[in-house]
Amino acid sequence: MNIILLGPPGAGKGTQARLIENSRGLVQLSTGDMLRAAVAAGSEVGLKAKAVMEAGGLVSDEIVIGIISDRIDEPDCQNGFILDGFPRTLPQAAALEDLLASKNKSLNAVIEMRVDDEKLVERITGRFTCGDCGEGYHDTFRTPKEEGKCDNCGSSNFKRRADDNEETLRTRLLSYYKETSPLIGYYFAKDNLASIDGMADMSEVTNQIETILASA
Ligand code: ADP
Ligand code: ADP
Ligand code: ZN
Repeated sequence: MNIILLGPPGAGKGTQARLIENSRGLVQLSTGDMLRAAVAAGSEVGLKAKAVMEAGGLVSDEIVIGIISDRIDEPDCQNGFILDGFPRTLPQAAALEDLLASKNKSLNAVIEMRVDDEKLVERITGRFTCGDCGEGYHDTFRTPKEEGKCDNCGSSNFKRRADDNEETLRTRLLSYYKETSPLIGYYFAKDNLASIDGMADMSEVTNQIETILASA
């Protein structure tokens, strides 16, 4: 099963992708995570992406399409994947369609996660993750059970993203509304779209996604 989680920054895509990954045996493919890894490694892609990401803009279609194309050929993706943060533009969506067709794959569902804009600011400015295992947290909505210690791996190495500040978020939201939100209409017209209430509690959001996947 191959699915897309679509939604603005802070909608909960990464959080839910990690949860469904475990319950469904799918692989989370986050272009944001892959690009951050490339930046950290100082690779050619990373050098091109760094400044754009810091400013909250979009990395070129060519780069992200190349990354996804290579990644979905890997053995762990053959059982299915969850696209988190890709596609983000209409050309990316078109390229994905061609890619999947050429590999004899298809999309089972595109799930739009709806969250009010004011809520996104709160979600993004309070977000942090475990630097060792990637578990996601929030200052208010999901704190570690034991303060300063990751629930999942026990690490104290927490990280905040440089672009998770209110100013950069505004630019990212503009990119979302200009470039990404047309994908909602695009997938609706293709009869592939399901929309869920991303404002609900995390476990309730998971239930809504599971219900869609059960009939996808
Ligand atoms: P969020 O989860 O907050 O939406 P991501 O981790 O998905 O953020 O993305 C972080 C940044 O990486 C984006 O602001 C953008 O610069 C870049 N990026 C990630 N995915 C894409 C993509 N599909 N196309 C272009 N740029 C991307
Ligand atoms: P995205 O990947 O769409 O940018 P994340 O999954 O990283 O979003 O979630 C953004 C922040 O909001 C994280 O700190 C996460 O813990 C928190 N969060 C995610 N889903 C919910 C929810 N349903 N209710 C409250 N907080 C949430
Ligand atoms: Zn951890």
